[in-house]
Amino acid sequence: MAGKETNNIMDKLVSLSKRRGFIFQSSEIYGGINSCYDYGPLGIEMKKNIKELWWKAMVYERDDIEGVDASILMHPRVWEASGHVEGFTDPLVDCKKCKNRFRSDLLEDTSKCPRCGGELTEPRNFNLMFKTFMGPVEEDAAVVYLRPETAQGIYVNFHNVREAARKKLPFGIAQIGKAFRNEITPGNFTFRTREFEQMEMQFFVHPSEDEKWFDYWMEERLKWYQRLGIRKEKLSFHEHGPDELAHYAKKAFDIQYEFPFGWQEIEGIHNRTDFDLNRHQEYSKKDLRYFDDVKKERFIPYIIETSIGCDRTLLTTLVDAYEEEAERVVLHLVPAVAPIKAAVFPLVKRDGMPEMGHKIADDLRGTYRIFYDEAGSVGRRYRRQDEAGTPFCITIDSDSLQHNDVTVRDRDTMNQVRIGTDQLKSYLAEKLSV
Ligand code: ATP
Repeated sequence: MAGKETNNIMDKLVSLSKRRGFIFQSSEIYGGINSCYDYGPLGIEMKKNIKELWWKAMVYERDDIEGVDASILMHPRVWEASGHVEGFTDPLVDCKKCKNRFRSDLLEDTSKCPRCGGELTEPRNFNLMFKTFMGPVEEDAAVVYLRPETAQGIYVNFHNVREAARKKLPFGIAQIGKAFRNEITPGNFTFRTREFEQMEMQFFVHPSEDEKWFDYWMEERLKWYQRLGIRKEKLSFHEHGPDELAHYAKKAFDIQYEFPFGWQEIEGIHNRTDFDLNRHQEYSKKDLRYFDDVKKERFIPYIIETSIGCDRTLLTTLVDAYEEEAERVVLHLVPAVAPIKAAVFPLVKRDGMPEMGHKIADDLRGTYRIFYDEAGSVGRRYRRQDEAGTPFCITIDSDSLQHNDVTVRDRDTMNQVRIGTDQLKSYLAEKLSV
């Protein structure tokens, strides 16, 4: 797709996000802060829905995965053991002329600046971890890091969780939480930011079974995107070549999505081997081996990791759902992801219609997120809900009061059906359960 058109779609999505209340720029009244975003009333609902869908698939529907919520600040030795202090770097180059900075591994041509054609410096390693100090004294001994991934909070709790939940291998630990990376070139809206939320699951297996479980998780994770309603043809796997593999990985596949700005990673599936637990055992001097009491064998498990960004997933679902039609812009979000499940509109603000509308809305609240709106033309109210991705609009007209029924309009087909108010709940339950 041409660059101009690409920007156009992303620009439209940024403006729709602000207009409808999905995503705002952080600290906007101060001019914003680069690459930080706030989720508005619709965005927060959508984020919650995405996390719930992930947690359901990874924890509730299985008996071999448990959850944790580890703290963001961890003992600084964690990041020495994990290799992040030494190796969590990206190659940074500066343009000598326009002073812009770039990640040289993401440049197509490393011989000149992509903005002004100026000369670039030699690449130097830039550590992506945010550093701060714990306590009142800013000294080396007080340095702590904002975690750049949630995974380490899982590894250090391996035995805590195993013992408390009485787990035997293979089993996994799941976590949703914030991560921070001082990215050199954030951008493409919320695609790459410096503060983001990850949904990670670490699956502990016997070393002889790593390949089997790697293949299993690749398949499972790809299937999950159907629940989000992402079009299959927009997803693909990309295997990391030897020069792309992270320091801990034996094998890695990305799940990629075709964004307007190209195919990009949305999730990583990694075989981290016994690297992390070995290193934590070495640095903490605690025995992190697992004891198989049937085979009488003691060993460090291998770890298969699935790591996905919640913000990036939300952006993916917005991009995938966005459509411009002749007379409207519509987000074809699946009901499970849509922030509002139904909107209730009295046709006019009189003749008992608002009262009936409120009654219907109140009755549905508690089961669904419902939006009530009585202002302006009904056509305009429909358009607003189309842009918000609301699957159904329920309208009360003068006949409704006589016959105790309403019209339900389907967002995607724009077809309207008349339904008795006593049937409304079961009608919505069936339609929204898909
Ligand atoms: P890249 O090489 O593009 O910087 P990565 O391979 O280091 O990314 P991972 O460490 O595998 O990324 O992170 C797992 C997931 O976390 C990614 O697939 C993405 O969804 C999310 N993620 C990583 N970095 C960011 C970021 N800066 N902003 C938003 N999401 C991110």
